[in-house]
Amino acid sequence: MNVFVLNCGSSSLKFQIIETDADRIATDSDKQLAKGLIERIGSEAIVTFQVDDRPSLKHAAPLRDHKAALAHVIEWVLNPETKIPGIAGLDDIHAIGHRVVHGAERFTGSLLIDKDVLNGLQECVDLAPLHNPANLKGIYAATDLFGPKMPQVAVFDTAFHSTMPETAYLYGIPYQLYRRFKIRKYGFHGTSHRFIAFRYRKLANKTREETNIITVHLGNGCSACAIKEGRSVDTSMGMTPLEGLMMGTRSGDVDPTVIEFLMHKEGTSVEEVFSTLNKRSGLLGVSGLTNDMRDLQSEAEEHQDRRAILAIDMFCYRVKKYIGSYIAAMNGTDAICFAGGIGENSPQIRQDILSDLDWLGISVDGKRNAEAIRGKEMLISSDKSRVPVYVIPTNEELILARDTVRAVKSLPFPC
Ligand code: ADP
Repeated sequence: MNVFVLNCGSSSLKFQIIETDADRIATDSDKQLAKGLIERIGSEAIVTFQVDDRPSLKHAAPLRDHKAALAHVIEWVLNPETKIPGIAGLDDIHAIGHRVVHGAERFTGSLLIDKDVLNGLQECVDLAPLHNPANLKGIYAATDLFGPKMPQVAVFDTAFHSTMPETAYLYGIPYQLYRRFKIRKYGFHGTSHRFIAFRYRKLANKTREETNIITVHLGNGCSACAIKEGRSVDTSMGMTPLEGLMMGTRSGDVDPTVIEFLMHKEGTSVEEVFSTLNKRSGLLGVSGLTNDMRDLQSEAEEHQDRRAILAIDMFCYRVKKYIGSYIAAMNGTDAICFAGGIGENSPQIRQDILSDLDWLGISVDGKRNAEAIRGKEMLISSDKSRVPVYVIPTNEELILARDTVRAVKSLPFPC
Protein backbone atom coordinates (compact mmCIF):
# COMPACT_ATOMS: atom_id res chain seq x y z
CA MET A 1 0.00 0.00 0.00
CA ASN A 2 1.12 3.57 -0.63
CA VAL A 3 0.19 5.67 2.38
CA PHE A 4 0.07 9.45 2.28
CA VAL A 5 1.05 10.65 5.74
CA LEU A 6 -0.12 14.14 6.61
CA ASN A 7 0.88 16.34 9.53
CA CYS A 8 -0.82 19.75 9.52
CA GLY A 9 0.28 22.51 11.92
CA SER A 10 -1.31 25.95 12.27
CA SER A 11 0.61 27.33 9.28
CA SER A 12 2.48 24.29 8.04
CA LEU A 13 1.90 21.02 6.26
CA LYS A 14 4.33 18.09 6.31
CA PHE A 15 3.79 14.97 4.26
CA GLN A 16 5.43 11.71 3.29
CA ILE A 17 4.41 8.98 0.90
CA ILE A 18 5.41 5.62 2.34
CA GLU A 19 5.08 2.20 0.73
CA THR A 20 4.20 -0.28 3.44
CA ASP A 21 2.01 -3.29 4.15
CA ALA A 22 1.85 -6.20 6.61
CA ASP A 23 4.90 -7.93 5.05
CA ARG A 24 6.98 -4.78 4.95
CA ILE A 25 6.08 -4.02 8.58
CA ALA A 26 7.12 -7.54 9.61
CA THR A 27 10.44 -7.26 7.78
CA ASP A 28 11.09 -3.59 8.59
CA SER A 29 11.30 -2.82 4.88
CA ASP A 30 8.84 0.08 4.56
CA LYS A 31 9.95 2.50 1.84
CA GLN A 32 9.75 6.29 1.89
CA LEU A 33 8.91 7.36 -1.68
CA ALA A 34 8.61 11.14 -1.30
CA LYS A 35 8.31 13.83 1.32
CA GLY A 36 7.75 17.55 1.64
CA LEU A 37 7.14 20.50 3.86
CA ILE A 38 5.11 23.66 3.29
CA GLU A 39 5.69 26.49 5.76
CA ARG A 40 4.01 29.88 6.17
CA ILE A 41 0.65 28.82 4.76
CA GLY A 42 -1.54 31.93 4.57
CA SER A 43 1.04 34.10 2.85
CA GLU A 44 3.89 33.46 0.44
CA ALA A 45 4.51 29.86 1.47
CA ILE A 46 7.90 28.14 1.32
CA VAL A 47 7.67 24.75 -0.28
CA THR A 48 10.22 21.92 -0.10
CA PHE A 49 9.65 18.69 -2.03
CA GLN A 50 11.84 15.63 -2.29
CA VAL A 51 11.56 12.31 -4.13
CA ASP A 52 13.54 9.33 -2.78
CA ASP A 53 17.04 10.51 -1.97
CA ARG A 54 17.21 12.90 -4.93
CA PRO A 55 18.12 16.50 -4.00
CA SER A 56 15.22 18.45 -2.49
CA LEU A 57 13.54 21.24 -4.48
CA LYS A 58 12.57 24.52 -2.84
CA HIS A 59 10.27 27.26 -4.14
CA ALA A 60 7.78 29.88 -2.99
CA ALA A 61 4.06 29.82 -3.76
CA PRO A 62 1.11 31.92 -2.61
CA LEU A 63 -0.99 29.36 -0.69
CA ARG A 64 -3.87 30.85 1.23
CA ASP A 65 -4.95 27.84 3.30
CA HIS A 66 -4.33 24.14 4.00
CA LYS A 67 -6.58 23.06 1.13
CA ALA A 68 -4.57 25.18 -1.33
CA ALA A 69 -1.36 23.74 0.15
CA LEU A 70 -2.58 20.15 -0.22
CA ALA A 71 -3.76 20.87 -3.78
CA HIS A 72 -0.24 22.17 -4.50
CA VAL A 73 1.25 18.91 -3.17
CA ILE A 74 -1.14 16.79 -5.29
CA GLU A 75 -0.30 18.80 -8.39
CA TRP A 76 3.39 18.09 -7.78
CA VAL A 77 2.78 14.39 -7.06
CA LEU A 78 0.84 14.00 -10.33
CA ASN A 79 3.25 16.01 -12.48
CA PRO A 80 4.84 13.48 -14.88
CA GLU A 81 8.21 15.12 -14.31
CA THR A 82 8.10 14.38 -10.57
CA LYS A 83 8.40 10.63 -11.18
CA ILE A 84 7.67 9.22 -7.73
CA PRO A 85 8.33 5.47 -8.03
CA GLY A 86 5.03 3.56 -8.25
CA ILE A 87 2.86 6.71 -8.30
CA ALA A 88 1.34 7.50 -11.69
CA GLY A 89 -2.02 8.86 -10.52
CA LEU A 90 -4.11 9.49 -7.43
CA ASP A 91 -5.31 5.86 -7.62
CA ASP A 92 -1.82 4.84 -6.55
CA ILE A 93 -2.36 6.48 -3.15
CA HIS A 94 -4.31 3.94 -1.12
CA ALA A 95 -4.88 5.61 2.24
CA ILE A 96 -4.13 8.74 4.23
CA GLY A 97 -2.77 8.81 7.77
CA HIS A 98 -3.26 12.02 9.75
CA ARG A 99 -1.32 13.08 12.79
CA VAL A 100 -3.87 14.35 15.31
CA VAL A 101 -2.47 16.05 18.39
CA HIS A 102 -5.20 15.57 20.98
CA GLY A 103 -7.45 12.55 21.32
CA ALA A 104 -8.56 13.29 24.90
CA GLU A 105 -9.86 10.24 26.80
CA ARG A 106 -12.02 9.18 23.89
CA PHE A 107 -9.33 8.13 21.40
CA THR A 108 -6.81 5.72 22.85
CA GLY A 109 -5.62 4.23 19.56
CA SER A 110 -5.42 4.88 15.83
CA LEU A 111 -8.65 4.44 13.89
CA LEU A 112 -10.44 4.98 10.58
CA ILE A 113 -12.08 8.38 10.36
CA ASP A 114 -15.84 8.39 9.90
CA LYS A 115 -18.59 10.88 10.82
CA ASP A 116 -18.59 9.78 14.43
CA VAL A 117 -14.82 10.17 14.75
CA LEU A 118 -15.00 13.60 13.11
CA ASN A 119 -17.57 14.71 15.70
CA GLY A 120 -15.33 13.38 18.45
CA LEU A 121 -12.36 15.28 17.01
CA GLN A 122 -14.40 18.48 17.03
CA GLU A 123 -15.11 17.91 20.72
CA CYS A 124 -11.37 17.61 21.41
CA VAL A 125 -10.73 21.10 19.98
CA ASP A 126 -11.63 22.55 23.35
CA LEU A 127 -8.62 20.81 24.92
CA ALA A 128 -6.19 21.62 22.11
CA PRO A 129 -7.27 24.90 20.50
CA LEU A 130 -3.75 25.54 19.20
CA HIS A 131 -3.34 22.18 17.46
CA ASN A 132 -6.47 20.18 16.64
CA PRO A 133 -8.11 22.79 14.34
CA ALA A 134 -5.16 22.50 11.94
CA ASN A 135 -5.38 18.68 12.02
CA LEU A 136 -9.08 18.94 11.18
CA LYS A 137 -8.36 21.30 8.30
CA GLY A 138 -6.03 18.64 6.91
CA ILE A 139 -8.75 15.97 7.16
CA TYR A 140 -11.37 18.16 5.46
CA ALA A 141 -8.94 19.20 2.71
CA ALA A 142 -7.98 15.56 2.09
CA THR A 143 -11.66 14.53 1.88
CA ASP A 144 -12.32 17.26 -0.67
CA LEU A 145 -9.26 16.59 -2.79
CA PHE A 146 -8.89 12.79 -2.61
CA GLY A 147 -12.63 12.10 -2.54
CA PRO A 148 -14.87 10.63 0.17
CA LYS A 149 -13.95 7.03 -0.67
CA MET A 150 -10.29 7.44 0.31
CA PRO A 151 -9.72 5.69 3.68
CA GLN A 152 -8.36 8.16 6.22
CA VAL A 153 -6.90 7.24 9.59
CA ALA A 154 -6.27 9.39 12.67
CA VAL A 155 -3.13 8.69 14.74
CA PHE A 156 -3.06 10.53 18.05
CA ASP A 157 -0.12 12.07 19.90
CA THR A 158 -1.90 11.38 23.17
CA ALA A 159 -2.85 7.72 22.54
CA PHE A 160 0.37 6.07 23.74
CA HIS A 161 -0.01 7.77 27.13
CA SER A 162 -3.56 6.52 27.69
CA THR A 163 -2.06 3.73 29.83
CA MET A 164 -0.90 6.20 32.53
CA PRO A 165 -2.36 5.41 35.96
CA GLU A 166 -4.61 7.93 37.72
CA THR A 167 -1.86 8.73 40.20
CA ALA A 168 0.27 10.03 37.34
CA TYR A 169 -2.33 11.74 35.20
CA LEU A 170 -4.46 13.56 37.77
CA TYR A 171 -3.59 17.06 38.95
CA GLY A 172 -3.91 17.92 42.62
CA ILE A 173 -7.03 20.00 42.05
CA PRO A 174 -10.65 19.28 43.03
CA TYR A 175 -11.58 15.90 41.57
CA GLN A 176 -14.88 17.31 40.27
CA LEU A 177 -12.90 19.43 37.82
CA TYR A 178 -11.54 16.26 36.30
CA ARG A 179 -15.03 14.71 36.28
CA ARG A 180 -16.69 17.76 34.73
CA PHE A 181 -14.05 19.03 32.31
CA LYS A 182 -11.56 16.16 31.95
CA ILE A 183 -8.77 18.37 33.25
CA ARG A 184 -5.80 15.99 33.55
CA LYS A 185 -2.42 15.17 32.09
CA TYR A 186 -2.68 13.62 28.61
CA GLY A 187 0.89 13.75 27.33
CA PHE A 188 2.05 14.23 23.74
CA HIS A 189 4.80 13.02 21.34
CA GLY A 190 3.19 9.59 21.88
CA THR A 191 4.08 8.27 18.42
CA SER A 192 7.70 9.25 18.99
CA HIS A 193 7.97 7.65 22.45
CA ARG A 194 6.23 4.55 21.08
CA PHE A 195 8.63 4.35 18.14
CA ILE A 196 11.69 4.78 20.37
CA ALA A 197 10.44 2.01 22.70
CA PHE A 198 9.83 -0.24 19.70
CA ARG A 199 13.36 0.32 18.34
CA TYR A 200 14.85 -0.18 21.82
CA ARG A 201 13.15 -3.59 21.99
CA LYS A 202 14.75 -4.54 18.67
CA LEU A 203 18.18 -3.23 19.66
CA ALA A 204 18.23 -4.77 23.11
CA ASN A 205 16.36 -7.92 22.04
CA LYS A 206 13.65 -7.51 24.66
CA THR A 207 9.95 -8.26 24.67
CA ARG A 208 7.44 -5.52 25.26
CA GLU A 209 6.91 -6.74 28.83
CA GLU A 210 10.65 -6.46 29.45
CA THR A 211 10.80 -2.85 28.24
CA ASN A 212 11.41 -0.59 31.25
CA ILE A 213 13.00 2.59 29.95
CA ILE A 214 13.01 6.37 29.95
CA THR A 215 12.63 8.02 26.53
CA VAL A 216 13.60 11.65 26.05
CA HIS A 217 12.40 13.47 22.93
CA LEU A 218 14.24 16.78 22.57
CA GLY A 219 13.25 18.81 19.49
CA ASN A 220 11.51 22.17 19.31
CA GLY A 221 8.99 20.56 21.61
CA CYS A 222 10.48 18.39 24.35
CA SER A 223 9.10 15.62 26.52
CA ALA A 224 10.25 12.68 28.60
CA CYS A 225 8.36 9.45 29.14
CA ALA A 226 8.57 6.67 31.72
CA ILE A 227 7.82 3.35 30.03
CA LYS A 228 7.15 0.32 32.23
CA GLU A 229 6.50 -3.10 30.72
CA GLY A 230 6.18 -1.40 27.34
CA ARG A 231 3.51 1.07 28.44
CA SER A 232 3.68 4.77 29.18
CA VAL A 233 3.25 5.24 32.94
CA ASP A 234 4.18 8.92 33.12
CA THR A 235 5.20 11.74 30.81
CA SER A 236 6.28 15.34 31.20
CA MET A 237 3.75 17.15 28.98
CA GLY A 238 0.34 17.71 30.51
CA MET A 239 -3.18 18.68 29.50
CA THR A 240 -1.43 20.62 26.74
CA PRO A 241 2.16 20.48 25.43
CA LEU A 242 3.09 23.47 27.62
CA GLU A 243 3.89 21.49 30.77
CA GLY A 244 7.15 19.78 31.64
CA LEU A 245 10.58 20.33 30.16
CA MET A 246 11.83 23.71 29.03
CA MET A 247 11.50 23.85 25.22
CA GLY A 248 12.44 26.06 22.26
CA THR A 249 9.77 28.67 22.96
CA ARG A 250 7.62 27.02 25.67
CA SER A 251 8.32 27.57 29.33
CA GLY A 252 7.57 24.08 30.58
CA ASP A 253 6.65 23.90 34.30
CA VAL A 254 5.88 27.22 35.99
CA ASP A 255 3.91 28.08 39.11
CA PRO A 256 0.41 28.95 37.78
CA THR A 257 0.42 32.00 40.06
CA VAL A 258 2.86 33.58 37.60
CA ILE A 259 -0.05 33.96 35.18
CA GLU A 260 -2.21 36.05 37.48
CA PHE A 261 0.80 38.00 38.72
CA LEU A 262 1.86 38.92 35.18
CA MET A 263 -1.66 39.89 34.11
CA HIS A 264 -1.83 42.17 37.14
CA LYS A 265 1.64 43.70 36.76
CA GLU A 266 1.59 44.21 33.01
CA GLY A 267 -2.14 44.82 32.62
CA THR A 268 -2.31 42.16 29.91
CA SER A 269 -4.92 39.58 28.99
CA VAL A 270 -4.73 35.90 29.84
CA GLU A 271 -4.27 35.17 26.11
CA GLU A 272 -1.26 37.47 26.02
CA VAL A 273 0.33 35.72 29.00
CA PHE A 274 -0.22 32.31 27.42
CA SER A 275 1.26 33.60 24.22
CA THR A 276 4.36 34.55 26.23
CA LEU A 277 4.49 31.11 27.86
CA ASN A 278 4.01 29.26 24.57
CA LYS A 279 5.86 31.43 22.08
CA ARG A 280 8.33 33.69 23.85
CA SER A 281 9.67 31.54 26.69
CA GLY A 282 11.98 28.54 26.93
CA LEU A 283 15.37 28.78 25.23
CA LEU A 284 14.24 31.89 23.36
CA GLY A 285 12.87 33.65 26.41
CA VAL A 286 15.79 32.97 28.72
CA SER A 287 18.53 33.66 26.18
CA GLY A 288 16.75 36.60 24.53
CA LEU A 289 18.39 35.33 21.34
CA THR A 290 16.89 32.28 19.69
CA ASN A 291 14.87 29.11 20.17
CA ASP A 292 17.36 27.15 18.05
CA MET A 293 19.71 25.02 20.14
CA ARG A 294 22.42 24.91 17.48
CA ASP A 295 22.57 28.72 17.26
CA LEU A 296 22.48 29.00 21.03
CA GLN A 297 25.41 26.63 21.37
CA SER A 298 27.39 28.71 18.85
CA GLU A 299 26.64 31.88 20.84
CA ALA A 300 27.71 30.17 24.06
CA GLU A 301 30.90 28.83 22.50
CA GLU A 302 32.00 31.77 20.36
CA HIS A 303 30.89 34.72 22.51
CA GLN A 304 30.44 33.10 25.95
CA ASP A 305 27.04 34.80 25.99
CA ARG A 306 25.94 34.53 29.62
CA ARG A 307 22.24 34.08 28.94
CA ALA A 308 22.81 31.59 26.13
CA ILE A 309 24.85 29.52 28.60
CA LEU A 310 22.15 29.95 31.25
CA ALA A 311 19.37 28.84 28.88
CA ILE A 312 21.32 25.70 27.92
CA ASP A 313 22.13 24.93 31.56
CA MET A 314 18.49 25.32 32.57
CA PHE A 315 17.37 23.14 29.65
CA CYS A 316 19.74 20.32 30.66
CA TYR A 317 18.98 20.65 34.37
CA ARG A 318 15.26 20.17 33.76
CA VAL A 319 15.82 17.05 31.66
CA LYS A 320 18.13 15.63 34.33
CA LYS A 321 15.47 16.25 37.01
CA TYR A 322 12.77 14.47 35.00
CA ILE A 323 15.06 11.51 34.34
CA GLY A 324 15.77 11.32 38.08
CA SER A 325 12.11 11.47 38.96
CA TYR A 326 11.21 8.69 36.52
CA ILE A 327 14.01 6.49 37.86
CA ALA A 328 12.40 6.95 41.29
CA ALA A 329 8.87 6.42 39.93
CA MET A 330 9.83 3.14 38.23
CA ASN A 331 12.30 1.93 40.87
CA GLY A 332 15.08 2.03 38.27
CA THR A 333 15.36 1.93 34.50
CA ASP A 334 16.94 -0.51 32.04
CA ALA A 335 17.92 2.24 29.59
CA ILE A 336 17.68 5.92 28.73
CA CYS A 337 17.01 6.73 25.06
CA PHE A 338 17.45 10.12 23.40
CA ALA A 339 15.66 11.30 20.24
CA GLY A 340 14.56 14.51 18.45
CA GLY A 341 16.67 17.15 16.69
CA ILE A 342 18.61 18.02 19.85
CA GLY A 343 18.64 14.53 21.38
CA GLU A 344 19.90 12.97 18.15
CA ASN A 345 22.44 15.60 17.18
CA SER A 346 23.99 17.23 20.19
CA PRO A 347 26.61 15.15 22.04
CA GLN A 348 27.21 18.16 24.31
CA ILE A 349 23.61 18.37 25.50
CA ARG A 350 23.43 14.61 26.10
CA GLN A 351 26.70 14.79 28.04
CA ASP A 352 25.51 17.77 30.12
CA ILE A 353 22.21 16.09 30.97
CA LEU A 354 23.92 12.91 32.09
CA SER A 355 26.88 14.51 33.86
CA ASP A 356 27.31 13.97 37.61
CA LEU A 357 25.06 10.96 37.72
CA ASP A 358 27.77 8.61 38.93
CA TRP A 359 25.82 8.01 42.15
CA LEU A 360 23.27 6.31 39.90
CA GLY A 361 26.08 4.60 38.00
CA ILE A 362 25.34 6.37 34.71
CA SER A 363 28.33 7.26 32.58
CA VAL A 364 28.61 8.37 28.96
CA ASP A 365 31.45 7.21 26.69
CA GLY A 366 32.91 10.38 25.15
CA LYS A 367 33.92 8.76 21.88
CA ARG A 368 30.67 6.85 21.34
CA ASN A 369 28.67 9.95 22.23
CA ALA A 370 30.60 12.13 19.78
CA GLU A 371 30.08 9.59 17.01
CA ALA A 372 26.29 9.42 17.43
CA ILE A 373 24.97 11.60 14.64
CA ARG A 374 21.59 11.99 12.99
CA GLY A 375 20.16 8.87 11.46
CA LYS A 376 22.19 6.36 13.46
CA GLU A 377 21.08 4.19 16.37
CA MET A 378 23.94 4.12 18.86
CA LEU A 379 24.82 3.00 22.35
CA ILE A 380 26.59 5.99 23.92
CA SER A 381 27.11 4.86 27.51
CA SER A 382 30.43 3.42 28.68
CA ASP A 383 30.79 -0.31 29.27
CA LYS A 384 30.84 0.27 33.01
CA SER A 385 27.62 2.34 33.03
CA ARG A 386 24.94 0.67 35.14
CA VAL A 387 22.29 2.00 32.76
CA PRO A 388 22.82 1.77 28.99
CA VAL A 389 22.13 5.03 27.16
CA TYR A 390 21.06 5.03 23.49
CA VAL A 391 20.47 7.54 20.75
CA ILE A 392 17.50 6.32 18.72
CA PRO A 393 16.46 8.55 15.80
CA THR A 394 12.71 8.87 15.90
CA ASN A 395 10.39 8.28 12.96
CA GLU A 396 6.87 9.40 13.74
CA GLU A 397 5.83 9.23 10.09
CA LEU A 398 6.61 5.53 9.96
CA ILE A 399 4.30 4.87 12.91
CA LEU A 400 1.62 6.95 11.17
CA ALA A 401 1.98 4.94 7.95
CA ARG A 402 2.02 1.58 9.72
CA ASP A 403 -0.99 2.42 11.89
CA THR A 404 -2.83 3.53 8.77
CA VAL A 405 -2.23 0.12 7.15
CA ARG A 406 -3.28 -1.63 10.37
CA ALA A 407 -6.50 0.37 10.66
CA VAL A 408 -7.42 -0.04 6.99
CA LYS A 409 -6.65 -3.78 6.92
CA SER A 410 -8.01 -4.46 10.43
CA LEU A 411 -4.63 -5.79 11.60
CA PRO A 412 -3.67 -5.88 15.28
CA PHE A 413 -1.88 -2.83 16.75
CA PRO A 414 1.21 -3.98 18.59
CA CYS A 415 2.30 -1.33 21.07
P1 ADP B 1 10.63 19.58 15.67
O1 ADP B 1 10.30 19.34 17.12
O2 ADP B 1 10.07 20.85 15.14
O3 ADP B 1 10.42 18.36 14.80
P2 ADP B 1 13.45 18.93 15.56
O4 ADP B 1 13.24 17.59 16.18
O5 ADP B 1 13.95 18.97 14.16
O6 ADP B 1 12.20 19.86 15.68
O7 ADP B 1 14.49 19.71 16.51
C1 ADP B 1 14.85 21.02 16.28
C2 ADP B 1 15.93 21.40 17.27
O8 ADP B 1 17.06 20.55 17.08
C3 ADP B 1 16.44 22.83 17.10
O9 ADP B 1 16.60 23.44 18.36
C4 ADP B 1 17.80 22.62 16.46
O10 ADP B 1 18.71 23.64 16.75
C5 ADP B 1 18.23 21.33 17.13
N1 ADP B 1 19.35 20.72 16.42
C6 ADP B 1 19.38 20.21 15.18
N2 ADP B 1 20.65 19.81 14.86
C7 ADP B 1 21.42 20.10 15.94
C8 ADP B 1 22.81 19.94 16.26
N3 ADP B 1 23.66 19.42 15.39
N4 ADP B 1 23.24 20.36 17.48
C9 ADP B 1 22.39 20.90 18.37
N5 ADP B 1 21.08 21.08 18.14
C10 ADP B 1 20.60 20.68 16.94
